[in-house]
Amino acid sequence: MTSERLSNFVDGAWRVSNGAGSLEVRNPASNEVIAVTPFSTPEEVDAVAQAAARAFESWRRTPATQRIQYLFKLKALLEEHFDDLARQITIENGKILDDARGEIRRAIENVEVACGIPMLMLGDFSEDIARGIDEYMIRQPVGVVASICPFNFPGMIPFWYMPYALATGNTVIIKPSERTPLTVLRVFELLEQVGFPPGVVNLLHGSHETVNALLDHPSIHAITFVGSTPVARHVYARASAAGKRVQAQGGAKNPVIVLPDADVEMTTKIIMDSVYGNAGQRCLAAANIVMVAGAEKIFSSVLTEEAEKRVVGFGLDQGVHMGPVISPQSRARIQGLIQTGIDEGAVPLVDGRAATIAGYPDGYFLRPTILAGVRPEHTVARTEIFGPVMTVLELDTVDDAIAFVNNGQYGNMACVFTGSGAAARKFRNEAQAGNIGINIGVAAPMAFFPFSGWKESFFGTLHGQGKHAVEFFTQTKVVVERWLKEWSRQF
Ligand code: NAD
Repeated sequence: MTSERLSNFVDGAWRVSNGAGSLEVRNPASNEVIAVTPFSTPEEVDAVAQAAARAFESWRRTPATQRIQYLFKLKALLEEHFDDLARQITIENGKILDDARGEIRRAIENVEVACGIPMLMLGDFSEDIARGIDEYMIRQPVGVVASICPFNFPGMIPFWYMPYALATGNTVIIKPSERTPLTVLRVFELLEQVGFPPGVVNLLHGSHETVNALLDHPSIHAITFVGSTPVARHVYARASAAGKRVQAQGGAKNPVIVLPDADVEMTTKIIMDSVYGNAGQRCLAAANIVMVAGAEKIFSSVLTEEAEKRVVGFGLDQGVHMGPVISPQSRARIQGLIQTGIDEGAVPLVDGRAATIAGYPDGYFLRPTILAGVRPEHTVARTEIFGPVMTVLELDTVDDAIAFVNNGQYGNMACVFTGSGAAARKFRNEAQAGNIGINIGVAAPMAFFPFSGWKESFFGTLHGQGKHAVEFFTQTKVVVERWLKEWSRQF
């Protein structure tokens, strides 16, 4: 791997950015520089937006049945390069290879679902809404779509949007995270092989200034964003003010409620995977584990034992359960939050702040941490840590637990572990979160369901994936039509 300065893919060709700013991309397990991300300029944003706008005119007229042929070809190429893409994710993001494989699988599922667009995009027709008058609704693409992506799922998150946007006749600009730009770059090498007409799919590297220029550009009609809540709020407000259609997924602090009747072995395994998978850098990571009615007496020791056994290391090495976090800054922030938790009264059952991994002295590693005795008002119960830290709270009743969930700022996911159908049903009905897990620790929707999110985890109305994506990337046109009988008499 060389530390190449990465190119943009604009109007069907690879182009070097003139941007003066850049960021070194590092393998978080080794600290080795593996690429340099250029920060594309507002002039380069203008060029890509214009290319995408030109391409839109003919792409929107390409029949949906032909547009999906490109996606079938893409699906075949993604399968062929499955392992290369997964390895690329591990190298730039740090997650273990199995998790990276899961990520690419979820990406491909979205391509498969979008291949159903001829059915998904069907309109409605109503004959004789008045005597001799018919009314129908058709779906047309919105235009140029820009997707701004985070670091933690570099291979999957562009696919929550791109396949649906393309299948419905839009043209696309992807702005990957400047910290993990390489997987998307490999995907664009495959998109180039697919042979989309120039300007239909575009890749633009960059940072804040690039994003703001995309949000403001008059030729861009829709924005999708996934990232932290403060940036999601900014993106939603700024792009909406510029008259665009926007959906912005934000951060999370996902509560998991454990009742004393939960299956111990299954619950422990699932909680471990949910809290520590991708080193906790998942918007669907379990974070606050809420033990109800004395469940901590059953679970504390097993969770502690399992956390201590977790093998930390480079995600491509055999037998590793957890990789590093994304950057030294992120590691320092997580270490600081663990200290804050302890200062506010939490008890560190496992303290993973000091982690030296043989063979990787410069990696950004932490080991699993468990903070027990956390109270709802503590900083660590309310802050998205985005690292391998489990915070354990104890509450008396299911009602208290649901109140805790609903008082939280975020609403991405909430889960319950129990053998009681009645408790689970109450939880499902009352918990204020967009994704609910019942004896499930990462309630990630399949591609044919919307990736929901409530409260400060989401700004907008329609989400990514499935029918929501089809609606987001199309505008409805209603036609009311009358043909007088007299006009057909001449034939
Ligand atoms: P981030 O907000 O730092 O960056 C996301 C994107 O926004 C990047 O492309 C970045 O270049 C751009 N950006 C950052 N700051 C900006 C600014 N001030 N102005 C304009 N653009 C800016 O997020 P991240 O650290 O890459 O990702 C982690 C966050 O994403 C976590 O909060 C996580 O919960 C969240 N996330 C949410 C979901 C979800 O579905 N809700 C999924 C994945 C990640």
